[in-house]
Amino acid sequence: MANAERPLPQPDDDSAPYWEAAARGELQIQRCASCRTWRFPPRPRCPRCQSDAAEWERVSGRGTIYSFVVAHAPVLPAFAAHVPFAIALVELDEDPQLRVVGNLLDIGVEAVQIGMRVVVDFEAVEAGVALPQWRRL
Ligand code: ZN
Repeated sequence: MANAERPLPQPDDDSAPYWEAAARGELQIQRCASCRTWRFPPRPRCPRCQSDAAEWERVSGRGTIYSFVVAHAPVLPAFAAHVPFAIALVELDEDPQLRVVGNLLDIGVEAVQIGMRVVVDFEAVEAGVALPQWRRL
C-alpha cells in the first residue's frame, strides 16, 4: 500500500514508545506497572486499577484474527486504489483481552477468516517510521 499521501502515525506522549519500537521492528505493548494489565491503545491510566504507572513489554507478535471489517469506500484518497481491503482485530497470544487493529498484508478479503493465525510484520514507510501489519502465520 505504498502511497506518498498515506497518513503517517502522529505519536503522542502515550503512544511514542509503541512507534519507536515499531521503527526497530519490535511489537511492544504498554502494560500497567502495578497490576500488569495490558493497555492498548496506550493511555495514561490503567482501566483496571487506575494506576498511572506504566511500562513497555515486547510481545511475541503472534495472534489470531478475532474479528475484521472490509473497507469498500475509503474516506481518504490515499486508500482509494486499494479497496476492498480487510482491517483485522488481532487477539495477541499474550492475553485474550489484548487486541490490536491492523492491516493484513497477504490475506485477501475473500480469504480472511475469524480464527486465522497471523504474525506481525513491519512496513518501513520512511526513515524512522514503520507500520505494524499482519500476515498469515
Ligand atoms: Zn493496573
